Amino acid sequence: MFKPKSFRLEELLPPSSFLPVRLRVVYQRDPERLWRCFPVPFLWTLDALRERYGVMTVNNWYFLKSEEWDKPYCRRWSGYRPLDCEVGAELSEHRFFRAFDTIFRDVQPGEVWADMRDNPDLPCFSYIQRIEAYEGMGWFHADFGTHDRFGKAIRVIPYKGNRAGLPEYIERAAA
Ligand SMILES: [Zn+2]
Repeated sequence: MFKPKSFRLEELLPPSSFLPVRLRVVYQRDPERLWRCFPVPFLWTLDALRERYGVMTVNNWYFLKSEEWDKPYCRRWSGYRPLDCEVGAELSEHRFFRAFDTIFRDVQPGEVWADMRDNPDLPCFSYIQRIEAYEGMGWFHADFGTHDRFGKAIRVIPYKGNRAGLPEYIERAAA
């Protein structure tokens, strides 16, 4: 079974009390089985980004006390989100185990977007299908969902029309 080197399962899931009941039961009996929920390219990309940009956080609730789970600095919805989770869009890729939001310790999202625009064929971007980008966005969203130019370009999802200066599609030179 493929597991990323630099992340534990809890960094990609919310606390187990928020999991749908069947997933919660699996988590309680044998959590390692839940690695299978995530596409391998998703897990592989996390390690590849970690290698290129350094320390990064997806969810951090596991490292905090449960009293802190509703604090602004606690991240618990940055990986998988249950279908009935109130955070995010109704068909968000997060609901299908296909998206993560991450904060890099040493680089800003804008630096990663610029690197992607200038070097779209870097291995760490090869499986990413869509990103979100807007001026002032504090995290890096990557997902592995489909879109009209799947395989040929990375789609940039704007917020209120703002894409932080990026084009709608970042072309893959090799495509
Ligand atoms: Zn996201």
